[in-house]
Amino acid sequence: MTTLRYLVQGLILTTIAVLPFTGLFRIDLSTGRFLLAGYQIWWSDFFLIFPFWLLLIAGAATIYSMLGMVFCGWACIQNTLSEFVDFLVIKVLKSKKQSLGLDSLTIGGDLSKGSKATATGWVLFGTIIVLMSVALGVIFAGYFVNPKILWSDIRTGSNAHGVFFIIPGIGALFVLDLFLIRHYWCNWVCPYPLWQHMFKSEATMKVAFDDARREECTGCNLCVKSCIVDIDPRDTKNYTRCINCGECVVACEDYSAKKNVPSLLTFHFDGFSIGKDGKKHINKVSPAVNRFALTAGFTMIPLSLFIYGIFSYVPFHITFSQNPGHLTRYSLAISNKKPVSQRFRIEEDGLPANSIHIGTDQITVPAGSKKIIPVSILPKEGNLSEGLHPFVIHVISDNPKKQELSQEASVYISQGL
Ligand code: SF4
Ligand code: SF4
Repeated sequence: MTTLRYLVQGLILTTIAVLPFTGLFRIDLSTGRFLLAGYQIWWSDFFLIFPFWLLLIAGAATIYSMLGMVFCGWACIQNTLSEFVDFLVIKVLKSKKQSLGLDSLTIGGDLSKGSKATATGWVLFGTIIVLMSVALGVIFAGYFVNPKILWSDIRTGSNAHGVFFIIPGIGALFVLDLFLIRHYWCNWVCPYPLWQHMFKSEATMKVAFDDARREECTGCNLCVKSCIVDIDPRDTKNYTRCINCGECVVACEDYSAKKNVPSLLTFHFDGFSIGKDGKKHINKVSPAVNRFALTAGFTMIPLSLFIYGIFSYVPFHITFSQNPGHLTRYSLAISNKKPVSQRFRIEEDGLPANSIHIGTDQITVPAGSKKIIPVSILPKEGNLSEGLHPFVIHVISDNPKKQELSQEASVYISQGL
């Protein structure tokens, strides 16, 4: 199980590290927009944004109702990095993992007592932490700034305020986190476990100690020593902080196997029951199974909306507005949300011929850019009478899909115009 957990953690960490360099996902800080494979996702793309978050929430709730706080133990990168630094503290500084940072205040480790850390060990440890932090600084900066731009800025030394502020800024936070904070954040600060607790029930998967065989426990303490969050898995009242990593179960299983007795610690989940045939069956009356069915069923709603959002996505956006102080002058703004340039055709209907002048009826908008076209109403040339004249502006993409966006407007012609 430990190997599987490390594999899952490694896979998630690698995905997070590689993602910004694939161009598949980025957040444009200047506009607050998301970029998916280069396509801009605006907050106004309601059927993508809203169902996506709802899908994440509902999917997470489905997992938590069955498996408890597995996210923390198996997926959270704060825990993964903290575990790696624990490993370095043990191997490089030859100390207890709780000996460094804020955990020493709460758990009671003391580096000065019994530490075999050498000066070389400290230099090696510090170098690894700083290099890790710089790498994390570059990775997380890549989520906000295009890595190509980052690299060009680093090479040329241009845009120093951006590059040389963002990367060291994020890196410094990680140095602080990895040296000082680590599991202290998970145990005492992070609000995410509270949210996961909301979906737990008595039936959610958890570590169980075989109380009936309590006297068989030799007190070897291997389970306690292996616990990432420093709780005693034999003490059920501590289950609120357990992240279901399974390390204590593995420790007790290995220890018990050597003595040829069953492990005192196991994962318990009443979503399965053992039938007369000795096989596992889904326990349909389990609250965990019911909650899973409910949350999984609800997940279908945002999933359907999200699929609808993908198919109805329009990769451009228009606004048509009157110029302030000018009754007959307008601006048509066309934003191209695609990662490649796009040609558009502009049409109007509703006004008599010659009564409107559009700056151009064809325009190419570069990738991710906006172009503004002036539009004027010509009352005299079009013989427009006094009063309100409604009209519609159409913008059609010049590609095989020929997607169209329209905006209604009206112009008021008063005497003397
Ligand atoms: S009690 Fe066991 S499963 Fe829970 S966090 Fe500690 S080691 Fe992991
Ligand atoms: S590992 Fe098993 S035997 Fe050892 S202290 Fe923990 S529960 Fe008891």
